[in-house]
Amino acid sequence: IVRIEHLNKSFDDNLVLKDVNLTVWPGEVVVVLGPSGSGKSTMLRCINLLETPTAGHILLNDVEVNDKKGKELCGLRRHLGMVFQSFNLFPHLTAKENVMIGQCKVLGKSKEEAEAEAIKQLEAVGLGDRVDYTPAQLSGGQQQRVAIARAVAMHPDVLLFDEPTSALDPELVRGVLDVMRDLAENGGMTMIVVTHEMGFARDVADRVVFMEGGVVVEEGLPGDVFDHPKNERTAAFLGNIR
Ligand code: ATP
Ligand code: MG
Repeated sequence: IVRIEHLNKSFDDNLVLKDVNLTVWPGEVVVVLGPSGSGKSTMLRCINLLETPTAGHILLNDVEVNDKKGKELCGLRRHLGMVFQSFNLFPHLTAKENVMIGQCKVLGKSKEEAEAEAIKQLEAVGLGDRVDYTPAQLSGGQQQRVAIARAVAMHPDVLLFDEPTSALDPELVRGVLDVMRDLAENGGMTMIVVTHEMGFARDVADRVVFMEGGVVVEEGLPGDVFDHPKNERTAAFLGNIR
């Protein structure tokens, strides 16, 4: 569903992604691990075309995304959802309105349709009783769940998560991870998740990718990567974070 081939990205003369190759299959959950600065966010941003690759190819459903512009780009972006570390909700809109706005503006849905979908998705993330709250009236964990509901309401082919729980107080992390786990296990959602939550990676990921210095150092089944890392850099990273 997503294929990354020989992706390179530099900022000026700083090469931050070096020949990254990754294929994600429908329904698969891929967790990306790696130290700060290893290029995880940059890779997600390239997939989402928030950054332009310096070289290489990114294919979404077998369509090359690199050289699309304007309208075509919007068409492709519709197939991708993204959840950020900072929830990026509109502060003046309620939870429900935050989930509706993209459906109306991007998908051209009617207000009624968008509202019904928003309520359904907010219920799915456990916020059925908070639909009329604004972000300021919600906890960080609740705001992040609104952001997830907003992404899911667009029915993307792939959901990209960039450290969705790392800005949260520890007691709020659980609820967000549970929502993500439910999406993966019961929603059949294809997901690429950058996270430091090792428990989530081990339990939910179909595959784990370890990046360092802009290179995919190792990838494999979570059990293999966690218990028998082949690469000493992976072993050192996992040893430090555990
Ligand atoms: P973290 O775990 O801290 O989020 P990361 O693995 O997501 O790290 P990236 O944010 O992808 O790392 O950054 C990789 C490298 O690219 C870093 O050296 C960073 O300084 C550089 N970089 C990222 N974005 C830009 C930018 N817009 N302009 C210049 N350099 C950038
Ligand atoms: Mg990052």
